[in-house]
Amino acid sequence: MLNGKNAVVTGSTSGIGLGLAEALAKAGANIALNGFGDPAEIEKSRARLENDFGVQVIYNGADMTKPHEIEALVDEAVAKLGSLDIVVNNAGIQNVDPIEEFPVEKWDAILAINLSSAFHMIRTTVGPMKQRKWGRIINLASAHGLVASPFKSAYVAAKHGMVGLTKTVALETAEFGITCNAICPGYVMTPLVEKQIPATAEARGLTEVEVVRDVLLDAQSTKQFVTLEQLGALATFLCSDEAAQITGAALPVDGGWTAH
Ligand code: NAD
Repeated sequence: MLNGKNAVVTGSTSGIGLGLAEALAKAGANIALNGFGDPAEIEKSRARLENDFGVQVIYNGADMTKPHEIEALVDEAVAKLGSLDIVVNNAGIQNVDPIEEFPVEKWDAILAINLSSAFHMIRTTVGPMKQRKWGRIINLASAHGLVASPFKSAYVAAKHGMVGLTKTVALETAEFGITCNAICPGYVMTPLVEKQIPATAEARGLTEVEVVRDVLLDAQSTKQFVTLEQLGALATFLCSDEAAQITGAALPVDGGWTAH
């Protein structure tokens, strides 16, 4: 379905990004991976996607806090794969603290990685998409792009910003065959979520088991985590021609969380 298309997925060495990269590769797209991690593990993922799906997969370790490295990532992907058709802005980090104790450097990093990096990716890739009259931009927001939770001021602010950026880019690109949408997952059990369980337990005075049951899955009405496969299927559909009239949307995949 996506044969011959070239996709970049930021933050795709782990979790949701790797899941989305796999789904797009399975659909036939060539992939530029990005993110941090153990070089041997990253190479294993890169080679696995290439071998399993018969597509070209490259890796660039650009730091999403650095606009010039983002530009270099785009340049390398275009040089090695060809023009970019699909941009998935997924890289993200989290920090859980009451606002009066929220570390300033964490606020700055979350805004840079979870929001500003999407601005830099889009501004450097959308021009050629407009010229070719086809493009798909998928921004990984969150249920926290639609509703808030305490102790996540920077994350909630960045994800609400991501939904606003999505709508603006959708309006600017609507007549150029480009769609821009936000996927808003509820909780998915990835390293990002695992890491915040102890911090949430401390911030709220709960055990880790209580955090999973009473905090993470409390509002997620199905009481189940969202899976990588479910997110991959939605991202692939958004890249299809059948999804050409879905743009500017913030699509919850949250087991009913934001229906409350
Ligand atoms: P994760 O920690 O498993 O993966 C994050 C990825 O981002 C990794 O590849 C990491 O290397 C990369 N990354 C971090 N800092 C970076 C930087 N400065 N430059 C480049 N890459 C960087 O997290 P995840 O749960 O897979 O989250 C992926 C996205 O989905 C995030 O934007 C997150 O906010 C969003 N999300 C996650 C959940 C969830 O429950 N896991 C829910 C809603 C939204």
